[in-house]
Amino acid sequence: RAKGQGGGGYVLFDRGMHEEALRRLDLELDLRRAQEKDQFEAYYQPIVRMRDGRLTGFEALVRWNHPERGLISPAEFIPLAEENGLIMHIGRWMLREACAQMRRWQRAFPRRPALTVSVNLSARQLLHPEILTEIRQTLRETGLSARHLKLEITESAMMENAERAIELLEALKRTRLKLMLDDFGTGYSSLSYLHRLPIDALKVDRSFVMHMHERADDRSFVETIVNLAHKLGREVVCEGIELPEQEALLRQMGVEYGQGYLYSRPVTAAQAEMLIIDDVARHPARKR
Ligand code: C2E
Ligand code: MG
Ligand code: MG
Ligand code: MG
Repeated sequence: RAKGQGGGGYVLFDRGMHEEALRRLDLELDLRRAQEKDQFEAYYQPIVRMRDGRLTGFEALVRWNHPERGLISPAEFIPLAEENGLIMHIGRWMLREACAQMRRWQRAFPRRPALTVSVNLSARQLLHPEILTEIRQTLRETGLSARHLKLEITESAMMENAERAIELLEALKRTRLKLMLDDFGTGYSSLSYLHRLPIDALKVDRSFVMHMHERADDRSFVETIVNLAHKLGREVVCEGIELPEQEALLRQMGVEYGQGYLYSRPVTAAQAEMLIIDDVARHPARKR
């Protein structure tokens, strides 16, 4: 019951719409206070090398510990934060937190090959005029070297302003950090852009990996992306790997990196540190 029949054109909300609007407003107010109250937490999900199962790094994923509602998924509050601009604060905090944490781990485990950390960058952050300066400053202040930072940008964020994005990505590349095209396959980027984007790797979206062991068309789709990426000199990361069958197929296709519940769910920093220790124990440093 959106518009009154032949009425004055104003919109009448029904009870459901009203409640939903209130809930959102509530969430938005809470979101504004969440930062000062320290309610955000960085979780880390391992990214492994498919060839030998070695841990290569983590994707940092934000979590919101709401005092009454408990853990709220980023799928729920990131879109809201994108709309009202709070994403700039959350993103800034997340980048710093993830870089500082990775630097601490590198110091704690100096004998293993350096781990990398991936941080998600939203469309709004990508188009912010100060973003380049901010990233450089964060790297300098945390002491993490640029080559150990990966930025994940979704295909759709990229396409919001492709020309601008390409310019910025080129500037970012010059600082030597790595760029990943996230959720690949779900957006609408054309192939003509793909080869122009200065990205290092494609992250194949979970929705394609999910059914590839049981659906031939999904399997062909993933295989086509992998071949294309490799022809363009890019690496491939597959997210959402839950089953050994999926892993086996991706390995056969030559996919470089994998991420998913098969290896680990996103975990707290303390739990992630245990995963690093496990990996070190399974891959002793070679004697020189
Ligand atoms: P994403 O960047 O594509 O991250 C991967 C998502 O897939 C994560 O969800 C992760 O928990 C989930 N995932 C990974 N492996 C599996 C699996 O095997 N099975 C299933 N069912 N799920 C798996 P999460 O943590 O809920 O994050 C959702 C999205 O929220 C992210 O998707 C990203 O777009 C956004 N996000 C998270 N943290 C941040 C952040 O700090 N900044 C920004 N801008 N966006 C963020
Ligand atoms: Mg991501
Ligand atoms: Mg992704
Ligand atoms: Mg995704």
